[in-house]
Amino acid sequence: MGKISEFIFKETKIKNETKRMTVLIRELCLSFLALSLINFLMNAILLHSIAGCALWFFMLITDGLTFTLSYYAPKKTLLRVFIIQKIAWIIASIVIFGWDGGYQFFLVLLIILYSFGEAGYTNKKLIFNFFCFVLFIVFLEFYKGKEGLVSIAGIEKIIETFSTLVFCMDVAFVATSFSRESQEIEEKIVNYNKQLEIEAGTDALTGLKNRRSTTEYIRSLVKESRTFSICICDIDFFKKVNDTYGHEFGDDVLIAISDVFKKRAAENVHSSRWGGEEFLLIFPDLNGDDAYLKVHDIGDEVKKISVPHGDDTVSVTMTYGLSEYSLTRNLEENIKEIDEKLYMGKTAGRNRIVY
Ligand code: GH3
Ligand code: MG
Ligand code: MG
Repeated sequence: MGKISEFIFKETKIKNETKRMTVLIRELCLSFLALSLINFLMNAILLHSIAGCALWFFMLITDGLTFTLSYYAPKKTLLRVFIIQKIAWIIASIVIFGWDGGYQFFLVLLIILYSFGEAGYTNKKLIFNFFCFVLFIVFLEFYKGKEGLVSIAGIEKIIETFSTLVFCMDVAFVATSFSRESQEIEEKIVNYNKQLEIEAGTDALTGLKNRRSTTEYIRSLVKESRTFSICICDIDFFKKVNDTYGHEFGDDVLIAISDVFKKRAAENVHSSRWGGEEFLLIFPDLNGDDAYLKVHDIGDEVKKISVPHGDDTVSVTMTYGLSEYSLTRNLEENIKEIDEKLYMGKTAGRNRIVY
């Protein structure tokens, strides 16, 4: 099985070309080879028809040649050779075996293949479509219900069944081949957009939500008229931490604090980096009193953080401004009030919650 697919999916000798169309024509050729072989055997064993055997033998040879050509010819040439060969085959089959073989329906396959295979909206497509339509009408007029040169009476059902089977299979090959690529691209674009959206709303250093996505989240809570509380947290004397241990170490402290906040996500606490060394916590469905208890708890955990620096460890405290969000005021007014509380906490000596 692996060998066969290797054979079908093998690259062409043409550079700078995708192999999709070539692989598709190979699949179609193989299906026609199978159809030709079965029909050849039926003509030889059941119908004893030399003319029938000759046509199917000729088909086996030309399909084999088209298949071989697929390894050397550009896809455009290959598509045209395939279509011309198949039109010749359809005409010959209808003339020799009549309407009941069902070969006229392969014109539909050619329309689909040419419409997908040729680039863009071209007049050539319209002309080809019209040509197939006229050919079909001619067959309908002259061969519907009539026999051809070779009578297939008695086994016409079997012949028609095989033709229909190959026809359906070929339409599926064409549809799958041309939809696969666009589906893959579509999936990639959707995933890429999702990734972009996540990145646009995330702070790169800490992985917390950023101000942009947090503002959006607050607006969504307001829209639903939900009760919620907001706390702004600012690290105490952070400038000193940077000055003493370096900016990079300061970053490590920011990350360690963020990790404490992130752990609270399971309790439905929305944490974000509001800017610099300021964080904003949102407590959906909690009034100020309940949020106060949570902030107290979180503050205790922050105090327990010890970030290693050489043989030392460094700990920090934070000051918190907390309010239940007032739906009668706008976002800026609410934030201003919380900021003022934070400032009060700073001037009163830091390391405290002002509620
Ligand atoms: P206070 O207790 O009054 O808040 O004192 P403070 O020193 O923390 O003062 P302030 O809040 O004004 O200082 C903010 C400092 O945070 C200044 C800046 O260097 C530092 N900072 C802001 N963003 C970053 C960052 O991304 N990484 C690091 N390492 N430091 C930052
Ligand atoms: Mg600050
Ligand atoms: Mg500070």
